Amino acid sequence: MSSILVVGGAGYIGSHVVRAFLDRGDSVTVYDNLSSGCRENLFGEATFVQGDILDSAGLLGLARAGFDALIHLAAFKAAGESMVAPEKYSVNNICGTINILNAASEAGIPRIVFSSTAAVYGSPHRIPMDETHPTDPINYYGFTKLEIERLLGWYERLRGIRFAALRYFNAAGYDAAGRINGLERNPQNLLPLVMEVAIGVRPFLSIFGNDYDTPDGTGVRDYVHVSDLADGHVRAYDFLVSQNRSLTVNLGSEKGISVQSMVDVARRVTGKPIPVRIAARRPGDSAVIVASSGKAADVLGWKPKYSDCETLVASTWNVYRDLAN
Ligand code: UDP
Repeated sequence: MSSILVVGGAGYIGSHVVRAFLDRGDSVTVYDNLSSGCRENLFGEATFVQGDILDSAGLLGLARAGFDALIHLAAFKAAGESMVAPEKYSVNNICGTINILNAASEAGIPRIVFSSTAAVYGSPHRIPMDETHPTDPINYYGFTKLEIERLLGWYERLRGIRFAALRYFNAAGYDAAGRINGLERNPQNLLPLVMEVAIGVRPFLSIFGNDYDTPDGTGVRDYVHVSDLADGHVRAYDFLVSQNRSLTVNLGSEKGISVQSMVDVARRVTGKPIPVRIAARRPGDSAVIVASSGKAADVLGWKPKYSDCETLVASTWNVYRDLAN
């Protein structure tokens, strides 16, 4: 049994990661300030410590309890917001991570699994995008994540901390077994917004552009189910333990789904009309972003199980349907 500290473990992705480690019998401690995570997502089997990553003394005090690994998912993640409020992203994402690295270093935590993002790549030069694709973020959020990857590299060189940087593509869906029901606060991503239209909280979905060079003209993304992402974290941890070397790897489904096809599947699954309006393209959006996850398959034996469009939509609807008017 391993002892895992999950920073940001009450959040949308974090709660699924916690569940995955608990499911195989590991001991889990969650550190979260509940700014976007929720109490509902905490599990009785895990120890919860409420705290902020900007509280370096609090972090260090907890880290000294001794852990086999720290999983770091505590970050702001709205790319659009990061362009208008960069200071917030500098402080939380970069300064907060420095506190985490310093606590891990001082407390002797030997491994870190870090939530990185496909946003480190910027505009695609080629599809699918593998890990050798140039990194040139086009939003400040992606820049903060790339800087953290670089910090991880230095803490490995100077302090011997092994890390796994997991470059998520578009995280979506909810626990297929229905054990996680806490909704993200102020969601900004496509599928939760589609659900808010389905339950009547929003009158329509704005589709940001239908004149892209894609089969139906709407943007194509690689959506990966959070339970698959959670499994990726467990595998990345096991890799760090067994191989004792660091890893930077994509986690994506390798399948492109357009905005229009996501809406079509959501209409069928929910039985709701889900009105849409075509709006202007969103600045900074690319036509198509699709991962190559060959490295995750080869190195981690990782293969998405839940990342088909139907399961993504149905598992999300399971959480939203009770709120429908
Ligand atoms: N999108 C949309 N309407 C929305 C939100 C998103 O058409 O209200 C589109 C967006 O342009 C992109 C896809 O849905 O093609 C996924 O966007 P999201 O913000 O979820 O993730 P991103 O790919 O930007 O990280």
